[in-house]
Amino acid sequence: MMRSCLLWLLALSLCSTEACRTNRKVQSSMKTTVFGKLRDGREVHQYTLTNKAGMVAQIIDYGATVTSLLVPDRNGKIEDVVLGYDSVQGYVDGTAYLGALVGRYGNRIGKGRFQLDGKEYQLTINDGENHLHGGKIGFNKVLWEAKPDGGSGEPSLVLQYVSRDGEEGYPGTVVLNVRYTLTNKNEMRIEYEGTTNRATILNPTQHSYFNLSGSFTKTILNHQLMIEADDMTPVDKGLIPTGRIASIANTPFDFRNLTAIGARIDDSDEQLIYGRGYDHNWVLRNGHGEVRKAAELYEPASGRLMTVLTNQPGLQFYTGNFLDGSAKGKNGIAYGHRTGLCLEAQAFPDTPNRPEFGSVTLRPGQRYGQTTIYQFSTRQRSKENRT
Ligand code: BGC
Repeated sequence: MMRSCLLWLLALSLCSTEACRTNRKVQSSMKTTVFGKLRDGREVHQYTLTNKAGMVAQIIDYGATVTSLLVPDRNGKIEDVVLGYDSVQGYVDGTAYLGALVGRYGNRIGKGRFQLDGKEYQLTINDGENHLHGGKIGFNKVLWEAKPDGGSGEPSLVLQYVSRDGEEGYPGTVVLNVRYTLTNKNEMRIEYEGTTNRATILNPTQHSYFNLSGSFTKTILNHQLMIEADDMTPVDKGLIPTGRIASIANTPFDFRNLTAIGARIDDSDEQLIYGRGYDHNWVLRNGHGEVRKAAELYEPASGRLMTVLTNQPGLQFYTGNFLDGSAKGKNGIAYGHRTGLCLEAQAFPDTPNRPEFGSVTLRPGQRYGQTTIYQFSTRQRSKENRT
């Protein structure tokens, strides 16, 4: 309650109309507060990043989790667009990875098993017979070390986690730094840098659930999505890729043009049935390397547009099919079926068992690098959307 009042006051103080925003200069800033305590007494901190355009990102050091993102709609009204909890306990107990930084391996590894340099490794099994999002105590369930940095005029927060050799079955001690920057172009830029002391695998990702409508009681089915991809990787019943790269032409997976997410989600398509909706990896155009546009997400009623850019080869699009209203989120709202969606930039699921998907191996002396950007803007109401 207290937290929602504070957020409301924060949004109000950032002003709520375009005119107000243009007349008043908001200074970029970074504030640190205590968000709560873990059962063992350690404090969890919340970092509030504000940019010059008035956008706000809140991040906690538990799970390097994005707890809120306050973004203007087409009339300048600032609202939160990511699902989360009001308390530390919500994040400790939560099973949906709301806003979290997941790893070491974001997504699934079949039977939690893989071979590296001739040796077989068995990871924790935590999703049916498979390994998901780093295991039982993944990067989302640990306290990271935070280093705020406001120096460059764009507030920036570096979070570091040292994952010990053997954690959840992974070889090698990995040091991962994740830098969240709130740019003055209303982007949340996420830069990852990882090293290891023994050959291992690394594929972290960001697991924010977006709902651009400003209301978490609404589903995301009216949002429109475009993905820069011509192919996807079909899965089996356990959501492990079959190894095929399939064209999305003439299927409900064709998002080459902005299309309403709800338009085909309940089609009687085997892949949609396995995923209980969309829960699949799209093969982004232009391979691995440069940061390029990966997707656009548009919510017609608010006019909010989110553009995703990344240097990763894949994008997991997940429509919150497992949200079932059982957990109470921010302001006591129970997040129902499909009230948030994830666009997770990453290597393809199960890559360690699929050499044809590329490599996620990291060796001593090498540096893992990922850049993913969630950029916010607005569009005016188009004629066809006017009601
Ligand atoms: C996965 C879903 C999973 C969810 C958990 C997503 O990244 O693709 O299958 O249920 O994470 O929150």
